[in-house]
Amino acid sequence: MRGVSTSIRGACLCGAIAFSVSPPYRWFAHCHCSMCRKHHGALFATGLGVAHDAFRWLDGTDEIVHYRATAAFERPFCRRCGSTVPAVSHDERYWHVPAGLLDGDLGAHPRTHIFTASSSPLAPLDDALPKHAAYPPGITLPIVEIPRARAASAAVSGNCLCGSVSFAAAAEPRRLVNCYCSLCRRSRAAAFGSTLLVGTDVFRWIRGQERVKRYALPAPRQYATDFCADCGSLAPSAPAGSATVMLPAGAIDTPLPRLPAVHLYVGSKAAWHEIRDAWPQFAELPPPERLTELFR
Ligand SMILES: [Zn+2]
Ligand SMILES: [Zn+2]
Ligand SMILES: [Zn+2]
Repeated sequence: MRGVSTSIRGACLCGAIAFSVSPPYRWFAHCHCSMCRKHHGALFATGLGVAHDAFRWLDGTDEIVHYRATAAFERPFCRRCGSTVPAVSHDERYWHVPAGLLDGDLGAHPRTHIFTASSSPLAPLDDALPKHAAYPPGITLPIVEIPRARAASAAVSGNCLCGSVSFAAAAEPRRLVNCYCSLCRRSRAAAFGSTLLVGTDVFRWIRGQERVKRYALPAPRQYATDFCADCGSLAPSAPAGSATVMLPAGAIDTPLPRLPAVHLYVGSKAAWHEIRDAWPQFAELPPPERLTELFR
């Protein structure tokens, strides 16, 4: 209908930073590069290209930490909650907007996968979209490899993007837990949150635990996220008193086997993302009788 605004609102997890975007989107792509995976803590990051006149900050620009991992572009994040927030892209005519921050139906779907040569073995790449090993044709930015730190004698180890925070676990996780709730989508600024569970008894910090900052939603809501205060990458998180540590799948540097998965809060999934595998799906949490089987 003519005259109806198509502008879509986006915000970080804590809500301090808010913005709006309008179509058309110059690109809508899943990026599998290790820098996006670490910064978002997710299996991959999904972003849209939005022209300057279709992008507007609504609130909170003073809360943005202007982190830069490479010379090409910034990877800004919210100082309070760690969500990755929009950045001026490699093509300065456009903003690169993390799709996970946006509300509602975008009326558009991702069109391509990039940096699939760096993809996680756990990432879904089973759709028919074009797949580019690195940048798509036409983009000539230098490709920067970030060092991977593999801890000796650890089954699993990982780092944040800036390297301040490093951790390891002596046993491999058994399952990949994907959560599509609006909070995980905002905290990762991604299609969904992907977490690997390990016991506190096998987990250790290698360095940087003191650089990890926690943001918790105000009570009575029970949701918290932990992130590197220096770069905004999602960090391992252990709820108080829990026997389990949640590792952000995107932070892992060691090769992982193709783990079984479970999909939670699928009832809150973004309309632009489609689940194509056959692992169990639950509209919210699994029923109590399946918790042991799925989370042992
Ligand atoms: Zn925030
Ligand atoms: Zn960091
Ligand atoms: Zn969630």
